Amino acid sequence: MEFADFAARASEIESESADIAITESVTELLGEADDDLATLARFVQGRVFPAHESTTLDIGPRLCYEAIARAAGQNVSADDVETRLAERGEIGEVAASYDFGGQRGLAAFGSGGEDALTVATVADELSALAAVTGSGSQETKVDMLFGLFNRADPEEARYLARLVLSEMRIGVGDGTVRDAIAAAFDAPVDAVERALQVSNDYGYVAEVARDEGETGLAAIDLEVGRPVQAMLAQAGTSTGALEDWEAVAVEWKYDGARVQVHFDGESARLFSRNMEEVTDPLPEIVATVDDALETPAILDGEVVAVDDDGAPLPFQEVLRRFRRKHDVAATREDVTVRLHLFDCLHADGEDLLDAPLRERHDRLESLFPPDTVSDLWTTDDPARIADIEAEALEAGHEGIMLKDPDAAYTPGKRGKNWRKRKPDVETLDCVITGAEWGEGRRANVLGTFELSVRTDDGFAHVGNVATGFTDAELDAVTERLEPHISAESGREVALDPHLVFEVGYEEIQTSSNYDAGYALRFPRFLAVREDKTPDDADSLSRVGRLADAE
Ligand code: ATP
Repeated sequence: MEFADFAARASEIESESADIAITESVTELLGEADDDLATLARFVQGRVFPAHESTTLDIGPRLCYEAIARAAGQNVSADDVETRLAERGEIGEVAASYDFGGQRGLAAFGSGGEDALTVATVADELSALAAVTGSGSQETKVDMLFGLFNRADPEEARYLARLVLSEMRIGVGDGTVRDAIAAAFDAPVDAVERALQVSNDYGYVAEVARDEGETGLAAIDLEVGRPVQAMLAQAGTSTGALEDWEAVAVEWKYDGARVQVHFDGESARLFSRNMEEVTDPLPEIVATVDDALETPAILDGEVVAVDDDGAPLPFQEVLRRFRRKHDVAATREDVTVRLHLFDCLHADGEDLLDAPLRERHDRLESLFPPDTVSDLWTTDDPARIADIEAEALEAGHEGIMLKDPDAAYTPGKRGKNWRKRKPDVETLDCVITGAEWGEGRRANVLGTFELSVRTDDGFAHVGNVATGFTDAELDAVTERLEPHISAESGREVALDPHLVFEVGYEEIQTSSNYDAGYALRFPRFLAVREDKTPDDADSLSRVGRLADAE
């Protein structure tokens, strides 16, 4: 398919507001995709690679502006592109506003003619670009990107720029693509959903649905080395859990970072909650797994930082290890970590997602020594649950998890089968969607941040945070947010969603001051949630629930 046809379809989808019409349009696109099916199933969501792959283009906005500037002609600089972005508010609009045509003529002249861009060429070029590493790689990436923009007409450039910056913004979410795959290839939605949960690859699932139908989808199994979305929890109480289930499986809730372990029979690989590979920064966890296992397995657990006496430290400490790609030895001495495994998704050739929790936990106990496996107590006695909670807190942990002992493992679902109970006031994980420069001595540093939560179609503002930061934290946060500034007016800046802050607050009030309809009273910064993307931030409905509970 020509990239221009994809761009035309993306534009048509963007102009639709009804969900049904959007799904129909994506269905048609997938139906006529032929060899480009896998690529198009990803491109419509602004993805270049399968969700389970850690590969990224590793192109910051600035490099993209440079490539656009170069394609736009000699008199245009990356700063000009940024200025235009501040005026127009969106990179696709900016890319479409330049005329790259003259350059196309030049390139054609120099290289003996360039054909129109195809979806496959764009996918291949972007994969090649992602593979460039080492010194001078940024320059090479800009060159390669320039080569693509140079061949693009305005509409192609609009969607190319958005794709490169993973900001497709045409209203196509995960659910749309799932439904479109089902409709295009006449497969049950449930079968597509299950295959997606297991594989995390929309492209692959679309191909299997088309080529092998429902039987093929059902045969998609977990694969060691291909991370699965983590099962998540809702807030809950022991009373509620005992009402819903005959007995409750209770575990300590560790305050660390989620880790998924994939052991292929030889060695372990580790993935974070975002499915990024974190094998290299955690060699001692790899060694623990390699020592214990002989046959392939996929396991779920939490890595916790501990002090010299083995007592747990706040989760920020373990995230320092996750972020450390270089000089692991130094941080390793600095931060000691321990692995607590609490689930087993696959063991020895057998997928266990549909097995009840108690069986999966037994499996775990058969594979690992007790100090690595989280204790799980099954009880129907509220006093016993209260005791376990007291013990967890006494040992320095965050609270307890209440799980349905008979429930299956449902990847990516924040369902009722896992519930968390934390006695401390709940915190909120908010996306930063704007900020304000400081004054005087701090004029070059962002000082106040706009906190937003997820809604069905974007983000809603719930307050601003300006306290709780050290100067060093403000410097670091400013440096990380600056490339994501999308518009600036006086001291105020608008930001594309990028960082997630965990914030504390005194209470949540209903308020007409912010578009969320709620306001956080006395918000204070606690930490950057390094393990969360804007999609993982708290939702407006959670804010509503917390406000009701107060
Ligand atoms: P929080 O900010 O409360 O940690 P979260 O949004 O990161 O929440 P939730 O799904 O709400 O994630 O809470 C479950 C998280 O708690 C898991 O992702 C996991 O990292 C952690 N956890 C700690 N101990 C356990 C346990 N025994 N079983 C399951 N998850 C656990």
